[in-house]
Amino acid sequence: MSRSSRALALLAVPALLVAGCSSGGTDAGSGGTGGDRVAVLASFYPLQFVAAEVGGDRVEVSSMTPPSAEPHDLELSPAQVADLSSADVVVYQSGFQAAVDEAVEQTRPAHVVDATQAAGLSEGGAHADEHEGEEHADEHEHGSLDPHFWLDPTLMPDVADAVADALTEVDPDGADTYRSNADALGERFAALDEEYRTGLATCERDVIVTSHEAFGYLAERYGLEQVGISGVDPEAEPSPARLREVGDLVRESGVTTIFFETLVSPKVAETLAADLGVGTAVLDPLEGLTDDAQDYFGVAEQNLEQLRVALSCA
Ligand SMILES: [Zn+2]
Repeated sequence: MSRSSRALALLAVPALLVAGCSSGGTDAGSGGTGGDRVAVLASFYPLQFVAAEVGGDRVEVSSMTPPSAEPHDLELSPAQVADLSSADVVVYQSGFQAAVDEAVEQTRPAHVVDATQAAGLSEGGAHADEHEGEEHADEHEHGSLDPHFWLDPTLMPDVADAVADALTEVDPDGADTYRSNADALGERFAALDEEYRTGLATCERDVIVTSHEAFGYLAERYGLEQVGISGVDPEAEPSPARLREVGDLVRESGVTTIFFETLVSPKVAETLAADLGVGTAVLDPLEGLTDDAQDYFGVAEQNLEQLRVALSCA
């Protein structure tokens, strides 16, 4: 967050404390339309999806990150910061979006789900020590924790459970609904995990070259090796040296496809692919939705298909 927006956000605090006293929760400026529905504010798409699935008809979910925007460097206006205090439940991921971390700190919403805690990501990268892959564990260790846990479906049910608990605190009448919705969602994540496991069990190659390193959790779960052109942050420009390194790797390991994303420019990936004479395909990091008709599971299944083609899986 820039210095000036930080100052603006600080200025907004007294105003929203006052506003917080008079609002009944549904009439505040969070775009809530839903009468008695529980107002849930999620920080970006995968968490928004979980909240909507678990809450069902009893909740009205909105997202701090606009649809089809890239969530990494989200900035929040003072009005958006104020939305946190009028929401009944806030669902976010600490350590991922600095502006959201600050807004949570400032507004201290009464009911908060932190996906980092719920998914158990805080112990120096839960995924890094679970698997043997020493050599790619260290790729994530420099800098901050790899945030992209939502691409590993086995880590999602715990978040759904935490959301169900928070919703139940706010709306005890919905307890059974939230519990059964979270269970059903957990089963869908388990089924997706099974699809990935079998779909990627027998492949000719295991190296995936991606625009930014969004697929570390996915790669480690399913025995793939991720090579990111950019690092964990999609905004980071790859150096010429990095591009040469990736090029060498592509040649050495016989990579046929360079993956690009939906929410960041495909230019670097396309140029590199053209230079190396390999193809490109979309692998969606699920950080936002570009197609309203899609959802988490639809995109995850498309990703699986793309991986199976690129890696020549049986
Ligand atoms: Zn990312």
